[in-house]
Amino acid sequence: MAIKLLSVCEGDVSDGLVGNIFASVAEWESDVNGQRTRDALMQKFREGWQPSPLYIGYRSVGGEGERKTCEPDIYIAPVIKQLFELYATGNYSILDLQEWLKDKNVLSRNGTSLGHSVICNILNNPFYYGLIRWHGESKIGKHKPIIDKALFDTCQYVLAKHRSFLIRKRTHDYLLRGFAYCYHCDQRYTAEPHPNHSINKPGFVHYYHCQKRGKNGCPAKYIEMSELEQMVEKEFKKLQFSDSFIETVITKAKEIIAENRRTSSSVVQGIINQKSGLETRRNTLEDALLDGTIDRETFKRRHNELQEQILNLDNQMLEFDNKGKIDIDLIEEVLAFARNIHQAYIEAPTFLKRHYLRFFFEKIVVKDKKIHKVVPTPIFKILKNRYEIIIRQPGLRD
Ligand SMILES: [Zn+2]
Repeated sequence: MAIKLLSVCEGDVSDGLVGNIFASVAEWESDVNGQRTRDALMQKFREGWQPSPLYIGYRSVGGEGERKTCEPDIYIAPVIKQLFELYATGNYSILDLQEWLKDKNVLSRNGTSLGHSVICNILNNPFYYGLIRWHGESKIGKHKPIIDKALFDTCQYVLAKHRSFLIRKRTHDYLLRGFAYCYHCDQRYTAEPHPNHSINKPGFVHYYHCQKRGKNGCPAKYIEMSELEQMVEKEFKKLQFSDSFIETVITKAKEIIAENRRTSSSVVQGIINQKSGLETRRNTLEDALLDGTIDRETFKRRHNELQEQILNLDNQMLEFDNKGKIDIDLIEEVLAFARNIHQAYIEAPTFLKRHYLRFFFEKIVVKDKKIHKVVPTPIFKILKNRYEIIIRQPGLRD
């Protein structure tokens, strides 16, 4: 309206002035619209709905514009749930899931198959278990979750593990690089893929070899990656912590768990106290409304504020539960390692295997495609001298 009017008057005033007015009206309009949109979106968040565009697996229902809410899409939501379940097993890469989603005909808005980052974003999005987020605030929304929080947390764990694995892969950082040494020239072994020309096993075969091979004619032979890594695995089979050492580890773990429980119960108690305080205030407010000592507007405003604070505390509680779970996972890993070094090593993801290697071995010396000897770390030596580590078979020499 305002703009049209100005256009009519254009001839009466200088172009510059009209230009200025145009610009300021346009600016003012966009500011007002922007603020209106921001207010509306914030209001939507307050009411328990995610203001951002729809996430894959949901369809919008009811209302106009910002008033639209959403519900799980009956066709796609079960696929998204299955996506989380598959990923949580740890047996599927994002690439595998990309193919799988393509087969299930779950596509992006423009009809192409979902990209790697889109799938990562889905697996990273707490909206799927019920959380909504807006400008740094978060709370449980009113939409129907597709998955539960435990499943989401498991996926976060797998994602974290895969991330460190992927970094390793990108830099071609082989497991035994830095640990395996050449017997002939004391050089580190390096590794690289070679194309496999066999018809039965196409692809690449990975080999470890002495860095000096070829250059100064080091005679050390190439050794297949899996062969050497399996030999190293067998070294772990020889190792067993003493019962007294395992006892010490278990005692320490118990201490950590007890400490966690103490902190956690005091934090939980704090949250519960705050929550019941807020609930009391809410009840008083509701009584005041019934008694007619408060007007509806004030009641609504204060009631909403209190409800929000209560929801916030619920979220804090959820986050706290999550943290406790990760601590327990770590303790479990350490205990498994203490009880059965070999088994824990076999089951560990690559980045953890490296920690285990670093714990025991300074060097693994390779001669004629065999482990010639292993050089223990100082801590391994101490444990061995104190008989805290029992070596089951001969073969480990200093
Ligand atoms: Zn060599």
